[in-house]
Amino acid sequence: MSDTKDMTGGCMCGAVRFVASGAPFDVTHCHCHSCRKHNGAAVVTLAGYKASDVAFSGTERKFYESSPGVKRAFCGDCGAPLTWEGDGGELGAIIEFHISTLDHPEDLKPTAHAFEVERLPWMEVADDLPRYEGFPGVGTPLRHGPVDT
Ligand SMILES: [Zn+2]
Ligand SMILES: [Zn+2]
Repeated sequence: MSDTKDMTGGCMCGAVRFVASGAPFDVTHCHCHSCRKHNGAAVVTLAGYKASDVAFSGTERKFYESSPGVKRAFCGDCGAPLTWEGDGGELGAIIEFHISTLDHPEDLKPTAHAFEVERLPWMEVADDLPRYEGFPGVGTPLRHGPVDT
């Protein structure tokens, strides 16, 4: 695992490209309904960067405002969902990349689950990472690891 090198990535067709500098401030599995809807996926893994550490190139990305102050970007050519973009509090403006937009997502490791309470019941992951009710790192994790059955 290398978490300090710059990460490159882009959409499926390559029209939108980006470079994210340094290590992400978090790498999180998000189980929220909005991420699922935007991606058409059962769970979405996100790598978060300060917006000031990200440079885009190529075609301008398009946005859908999924809630006030939150923009979700996608490629207008191939339709690939790209990011969650919004206010990161003390971090300022942040950009969370869907990890599969990265050229080498295997170089980053998830550190938490977010919005555990919205997780699809059959989408279980056998890891011991902290699982938060909402945003990662906010409050006490509901638990670590899978639900006991
Ligand atoms: Zn594209
Ligand atoms: Zn989410």
